[in-house]
Amino acid sequence: MNVVVLLGAPGAGKGTQAPLLAARLEIPVVATGDLFRAAVREGTPLGLEARRFMDAGRLVPDEITVRLLLERLARPDAADGVILDGFPRTAIQAAALDAALTARGAGVGAAVLVDVPGEELVRRMSGRWICRANGHPYHEVSSPPRVAGVCDLDGSELYQRADDQPDTIRTRMDQQLGSLREVIDHYRAAGCLRSVDGLQAIDRVAADIDAQLTAAGIRGAAGSGRAAGA
Ligand code: ADP
Ligand code: ADP
Repeated sequence: MNVVVLLGAPGAGKGTQAPLLAARLEIPVVATGDLFRAAVREGTPLGLEARRFMDAGRLVPDEITVRLLLERLARPDAADGVILDGFPRTAIQAAALDAALTARGAGVGAAVLVDVPGEELVRRMSGRWICRANGHPYHEVSSPPRVAGVCDLDGSELYQRADDQPDTIRTRMDQQLGSLREVIDHYRAAGCLRSVDGLQAIDRVAADIDAQLTAAGIRGAAGSGRAAGA
């Protein structure tokens, strides 16, 4: 089972890299932000609860987030592995993930930090548009869609997230960067932290992530297109 964690500040490029990597490793992306946005859209009790935190730019409490993630990991399509985008975001979440994977005889294969400094994060989030169907991200300057307002990958409509407004962007950075550091420390201590320069062009970042995963012994990341075995 290949479990790859993509780490980075809000706006670092995790959601851009995750589907590229999923296609190469042939395992699904699990993005807690997307799961929460779907729950909000569907108006479920969990969605209503999560929305208060998301709109304020704060982290959703660990108890709710871990429950959501574990339910998703229990689905059959996650049996061979997953790429985690946006989870874990606290040390408590990282420990809960370790425990769940250990129970399956597995573990996090690599945690890759997409490293981007603060002022660029603000620029990226304020120009971000994402698609309604699958959350694929675009940027109005650096990564525009081929047809304005339409997702290249699935044809759905693009919109700007409510939490990508300047005030909420600043709150998210204030609220979330401290706990990102905790998670980085967790994986550094576990010996599986790797880092790439997220300021490069999207395809260069993708190539560096591939190289890091290959170095970590994660199969299927070298461009062969097939994830070999479990
Ligand atoms: P971004 O792409 O900007 O990093 P996400 O789409 O991953 O943002 O997450 C959007 C919001 O959903 C977060 O600001 C937070 O409120 C909530 N969220 C997502 N993942 C988590 C998590 N692992 N723990 C707590 N809250 C989360
Ligand atoms: P995250 O999921 O980490 O919050 P996203 O993948 O949604 O980040 O990217 C945030 C914004 O930055 C999006 O508008 C995206 O198109 C843009 N972006 C992502 N990677 C790059 C890059 N390497 N160079 C320039 N812009 C990028």
